[in-house]
Amino acid sequence: MICGVTLLFRLAQVVFRPYKVRFTCDACELQRHEPDAVHCKACGNLLNIPDEGAD
Ligand SMILES: [Zn+2]
Repeated sequence: MICGVTLLFRLAQVVFRPYKVRFTCDACELQRHEPDAVHCKACGNLLNIPDEGAD
Protein backbone atom coordinates (compact mmCIF):
# COMPACT_ATOMS: atom_id res chain seq x y z
CA MET A 1 0.00 0.00 0.00
CA ILE A 2 2.73 2.47 0.98
CA CYS A 3 4.66 1.40 -2.10
CA GLY A 4 1.70 2.37 -4.30
CA VAL A 5 1.42 5.82 -2.71
CA THR A 6 5.14 6.42 -3.23
CA LEU A 7 4.81 5.43 -6.87
CA LEU A 8 1.89 7.83 -7.33
CA PHE A 9 3.83 10.62 -5.66
CA ARG A 10 6.82 10.05 -7.91
CA LEU A 11 4.57 10.07 -10.95
CA ALA A 12 3.11 13.41 -9.84
CA GLN A 13 6.63 14.77 -9.42
CA VAL A 14 7.47 13.85 -13.00
CA VAL A 15 4.26 15.36 -14.37
CA PHE A 16 4.59 18.63 -12.47
CA ARG A 17 8.33 18.97 -12.81
CA PRO A 18 9.31 22.44 -13.98
CA TYR A 19 10.10 22.67 -17.65
CA LYS A 20 13.69 21.90 -18.51
CA VAL A 21 15.28 22.09 -21.88
CA ARG A 22 17.02 19.00 -23.22
CA PHE A 23 20.51 19.84 -24.34
CA THR A 24 23.66 17.82 -23.82
CA CYS A 25 26.54 19.63 -22.16
CA ASP A 26 29.79 19.16 -24.08
CA ALA A 27 31.86 18.84 -20.93
CA CYS A 28 29.85 16.69 -18.51
CA GLU A 29 26.98 15.46 -20.71
CA LEU A 30 24.30 16.75 -18.36
CA GLN A 31 21.12 16.83 -20.43
CA ARG A 32 18.68 18.88 -18.40
CA HIS A 33 19.10 22.61 -18.11
CA GLU A 34 17.00 25.66 -17.39
CA PRO A 35 15.52 27.00 -20.63
CA ASP A 36 17.41 30.25 -20.15
CA ALA A 37 20.65 28.72 -18.87
CA VAL A 38 23.87 30.21 -20.19
CA HIS A 39 26.24 27.96 -18.26
CA CYS A 40 25.89 24.32 -17.24
CA LYS A 41 24.83 24.20 -13.59
CA ALA A 42 26.92 21.10 -12.99
CA CYS A 43 30.29 22.04 -14.46
CA GLY A 44 29.95 25.68 -15.50
CA ASN A 45 30.63 24.98 -19.17
CA LEU A 46 29.26 27.60 -21.55
CA LEU A 47 26.12 26.26 -23.21
CA ASN A 48 24.78 27.25 -26.57
CA ILE A 49 21.15 26.23 -26.26
CA PRO A 50 19.10 27.15 -29.30
CA ASP A 51 16.44 29.57 -28.13
CA GLU A 52 13.10 28.23 -29.29
CA GLY A 53 11.24 31.10 -27.71
CA ALA A 54 13.02 33.78 -29.72
CA ASP A 55 10.72 36.13 -31.60
ZN1 LIG B 1 28.28 20.43 -17.83
